[in-house]
Amino acid sequence: MHSDNDIDARKRVNTDSAMSALLRERYRCPDDFLRTEPTGRPPFHPEDFNDGQAGSTISLPFDPTEFINNLRLERYAKRYSWNELRPGIRLLRDLYYFVRPWLSLDARRHVQRAYIKGWEKITFPTWPVDSTVERIHDQVLLSSMKASNIDRVPFIWFWPDGARNAVLMTHDIEGPAGYDFCSELMAVDKSFGIMASFQVVPEGSYKVTDTFLQELRDAGCEVNIHDLNHDGCLFRDRKEFLRRAAKINQYGHRYNAQGFRAAVLYRNLDWYDALDFSYDMSVPNVAHLDPQRGGCCTVMPYFAGDILELPLTTSQDYMLFHLLGDYSSDLWKTQTKAILQRNGLISFLIHPDYIREKRALGVYCDLLNFLRELATQERLWFALPGEVDQWWRDRSQMQVVNRGRGWQIEGPGSERAVLAFATAEDDHLQFEIASHACLIEREGS
Ligand SMILES: [Zn+2]
Repeated sequence: MHSDNDIDARKRVNTDSAMSALLRERYRCPDDFLRTEPTGRPPFHPEDFNDGQAGSTISLPFDPTEFINNLRLERYAKRYSWNELRPGIRLLRDLYYFVRPWLSLDARRHVQRAYIKGWEKITFPTWPVDSTVERIHDQVLLSSMKASNIDRVPFIWFWPDGARNAVLMTHDIEGPAGYDFCSELMAVDKSFGIMASFQVVPEGSYKVTDTFLQELRDAGCEVNIHDLNHDGCLFRDRKEFLRRAAKINQYGHRYNAQGFRAAVLYRNLDWYDALDFSYDMSVPNVAHLDPQRGGCCTVMPYFAGDILELPLTTSQDYMLFHLLGDYSSDLWKTQTKAILQRNGLISFLIHPDYIREKRALGVYCDLLNFLRELATQERLWFALPGEVDQWWRDRSQMQVVNRGRGWQIEGPGSERAVLAFATAEDDHLQFEIASHACLIEREGS
C-alpha cells in the first residue's frame, strides 16, 4: 500500500519532469537548472496565462505539457475540424464546397463574410496575435527559478546570430492568374531583398512545369507543396485523406519539396504522421478569420510528431482585403510589433492571385518597405522556411555546457548559436544576449 505522501511525491516527480521537458524544449538550458522544488502551491494557474481578456471559456488541463499540446495541437478547438463538425454545419460546408466552383467571387465573399460575422467578439485566442504558449513557458521558468532560488539561467537564443526575430515570406499559388504573376512577384520581392517560398498545387487549375520550378529555384526561392487539388476537402474523411497524402508525398519527392501547406489552412495535426515532409505551415496563430477556427497560440516553431510546424503568425492577404475590406498594412504592422515583443517567427502568407491588382500590390509593397525599415533598427533574420526548419532542428539538438571555461553551446550548427541569459526581475523574465550585451526587456506578465 502506498501512503498519500508516496503518491504526492510521485505526482511531483511527474509534474517536475513534464516541466523540465517543457523548459528544455523552449530554452535549451542546462538540466542543472531544471530541477524544481515543491513550493506547496501549484507552479502556475491557468488564469495566469489569460492575455488580459475576460470570458475565455476553454477548459485547461493542469499538466503543463498537456496544457501546451492542448493549444498547439488545437485540441481545445477540435469542434471546428471537419470531422468533428455538427452534422448540420458539416452539411452546409459540404454544400458550400459542392457549389463553390460555380459561385462568382462576389458570391463566395458574401458567404465567407456571413461566416465570420461576429468574429471580433471571440475572446480566445487573443486577437490579433496570441502568445499564450510563450507566457506559459516563461511563467513556468520564472516559478522554477524562484523555487530554486536561481536568478539567472543560461539558454540558447531563439534565432541564429542573435537575431531578435525570424521573418518568413510565403506565397501560395491558387490558380492560373496567380501562376502567371509569379515572375513579377519574384521581381518585387527581390527589389526589397526578400526571398520567399512558393507553394504549388500539384493537381490544381494550372500546370506546374519543370521550367517554372527551375525559375523559382534559380532565383533563390523555395518550392513547397500546397495541398493536392485545393478543393478544400483534404481532411474531410480519413480514408480519402490517406489516399491523397500518398499522392502529396509523391509530388513532394518529385518536386524535391520539404514543406507543405494545406488548402484554406484546413488542418488536422493528428493525421500528419501520414505526410512525409520536414515541416508544415498550415496552422494559424489565431484563426478568427479563417474557415477553420482555432489557432495554435504560439509564435514559435514546434514539433508535431516528426514534422516541424512553422505557424502562420499574421493574417492572410485574402482575409484582410476581401473579408475585412482593409486595403492597408496596419494589421500586419500591429501583428509584427506584437511578435517582436515575443522574439517570435513573423510569417506572412501573400497570394500572387490576390495582389496582382494595383491597390493590393501597393499595400504589399508598403509591408515590404516597413519590414526593410524595421531591419535597420532591429536585427531580423529574413529566412526561407527550409532554413528555419533546419535551424530549429539543429537548435533542438544543441546543449549549453560548462566545461570549466564558462558556458558554451555545443552541437550541430552551434557556430551560429548565441548564448543568452534569462533573468528573474520581480514578476517577469528578462532576456539578455550574452555576446551582444543588449538587454531585451519583456513585457510584464
Ligand atoms: Zn491556397
